[in-house]
Parts: sequence; structure tokens; C-alpha cells
Amino acid sequence: MIDIDRNRLIEIIKEIVNIPSEKPDGNEMEVGHHIFTFLKNLGFAPIKQIVDEHSFNILCLIKGTSEGRAIMYNGHIDVVPAGNRELWSHDPYDCVERDGKLYGRGTCDMKGSVGCILYVAERIANGEIDLAPDLLLTFTVDEENENKGIIQLIQSDINVDYCIIGEPTELDIAIGHRGVSTHYIELFGQNCHIANSDGHRNAIHDAAKVIEWIEGKNTELRRENSLIGYPQWKVTQVAGGIKSNVNPEYCKITADRRFIFGETKDSLINDLELLKRTFPEMTIQYGLVSYVAPALEKESCRAVHDVQGAILATEGKRHAVKEFEAGCEQSFIQQKGIECIVFGPGSLKQAHVIDEFVSITQLIDYVQIISALMGNPS
Ligand SMILES: [Zn+2]
Repeated sequence: MIDIDRNRLIEIIKEIVNIPSEKPDGNEMEVGHHIFTFLKNLGFAPIKQIVDEHSFNILCLIKGTSEGRAIMYNGHIDVVPAGNRELWSHDPYDCVERDGKLYGRGTCDMKGSVGCILYVAERIANGEIDLAPDLLLTFTVDEENENKGIIQLIQSDINVDYCIIGEPTELDIAIGHRGVSTHYIELFGQNCHIANSDGHRNAIHDAAKVIEWIEGKNTELRRENSLIGYPQWKVTQVAGGIKSNVNPEYCKITADRRFIFGETKDSLINDLELLKRTFPEMTIQYGLVSYVAPALEKESCRAVHDVQGAILATEGKRHAVKEFEAGCEQSFIQQKGIECIVFGPGSLKQAHVIDEFVSITQLIDYVQIISALMGNPS
């Protein structure tokens, strides 16, 4: 166990939380520069990997003393938009400590985790953690949007034993997640005065029927279950209509589909085709917005073994091995042939919400476990 300087850990996290890096409405340039400079000032040699004109990934290899072992940490440095700031008890970008928690956008998802690993890097630089394996730190952009960062990162030459994504799992070990696919569905009606609209298609009324149909399908889908959870299909956005007295000629629905192994890009399309056949009287078009494959690692893998070993060494007990309820970028890393698990501080219940927070106790425990993992070859 190492002595943890609580104030310093919190200071590092506050610094990165207080730099907004919202996706899709902002960018990660400033927080990227901050993390890059932080690592450079420690004497390491971070590399910027340009993703687009507004953002770059950071890779930083820290050499360990035990030849031939290497562990990768991955964390995204973007956050979801804070939304209506008046609903927050505090400014989401002025991170505060209250009742043993750190509040602010990204504290839980996932700058608290990123701050912990930066703290560990600082302790390594100061010679206070004797790093055994090589540690490859990777900080990616655009995770909350189109996964541009990870898609770029996996083009790199990466040779590690396994990867830990530090997304919030409440310090349990997550070995898989459902796939996430988003489609838009467009409904087309006829433009006319609402006073004289009988017999004209109303795109919003049509959308209502489509939404109800999707809800029915969702009930069916949820009967299935698997190691990574159940399939789900829910409408998350609706936009349509131009004025209270104009018959709506257009309505766009966006729907989020969580899917499991056995379902494919094509089978998801089949459901959309079935939708079209169910309502032949409507004009319906659809298209793909984003797609992330499901992921599952074996419970007997090296990463789970090592992390459980580090947890046991610090806490004298094991933590649960489970699925990650949200989507993350595990499948991208697995597709590269790298063993990968998800393990980090904070609860998903506090991610993407007003008054997002992370427990400071979990941050400290995370630093202890990661330090044990890095220091003790098993
Ligand atoms: Zn996240």
C-alpha cells in the first residue's frame, strides 16, 4: 500500500474536470494540452496522435523494470454536455468536494479515473512506485460521440499484455458490454393548413405510431438475456413540425438499440424493414448514425486474474466480475487483438446526469489497486 496524498489527487482531478471538453458540442483541445504537458513535465515522452483539427489522442509509454510485461490504460477525455447549468447545484466546471464526493461534469465519466492514473504516473516519476510492467497510457477523444479517437488509436502499433479501460464500474471488474447502435427514422407527411388537413398524412401522428411499435418490440426484445445483458430498443430523440397550425410534413426519430451477441448489423436492419412493412401506408426512411460492437472477455483471462490479485492484495477480498451496463470502447480494443476489461471508480448511475459525482473513497481505492497492479508482478 502507498501513502496517498488525498489533496494532491483531488487537485489533479479538479484541474482536468474544470477544463470543459464536451462532445458533441465542444472539443478536447485544451484538456489534451493540459494532460500532455502534465506528463511531459514529469519527464515522460508523451505523443500526440492527431484525430482531427480540434482534437488529439495522447499515448505515453512509461518503462517498467520487469522486461516483457506491458499493461495499457485507456481513458477518454471528452465528457457529455452539462446541459442546463441552472439545474446543477454547482457550476459543472468548478469541481467541488462535498460529503466525500467530487462534483462536476466528468468526475465520474471519466476524468476521476484519468486523474487517478495521472496521479499514479506522478508517483512513478517521483520514484515512489516501483513500476514493474511497462505502462502504456492512452487518452482518447470523441468517445461520447463517434469514437473517432479509439478508431485512430487502434491504427497504432500496440504491444501489451492487456488493456484496462478505466470507465466507472464501482471498482468491480467488467468483462463485457452490449453493442450500441443508433438509427434515425424519418417520417414524411404532407404540407397543408391544419384546418384543412383531413386525409393528409401527419408525420408526427405517424411517428407516434412508430414509437409505440418500437416500444412493443422493446418489450419482446427484453425477454432475451445473455452474459452481457438484454437487448433493448428505445426512442431517445424526436424532432418535427414547424408551426402550430401547419400539418407536419416531416418528423425524425432517433432510437438507441442495445444488442447482444447473435444480433448483427443486418439483423438490426431487418427490424427496421419489418417496421416499414408494418406501416405500408407511411413514407419511412431510416439510416445508421453509429455502431459499436458488443464485447466479452473470458473471466479466466490474465487481466481479470491480475486485477483481482491487486484487489486481494490491497483489500483482502475479491470484487465482482460482471458486465458493463453502458457501451464503451472495449470491443474496438478487442478487435485489435488486445485482451481488454473495464475497471474504474464511480458508478454509472452518476454518469451523464445533473450533479454528476464520484466518491473520493473509490478514487483512493482505485489508486491503491492500480499501484499494487503496477508494482507487483503476479
Ligand atoms: Zn465514459
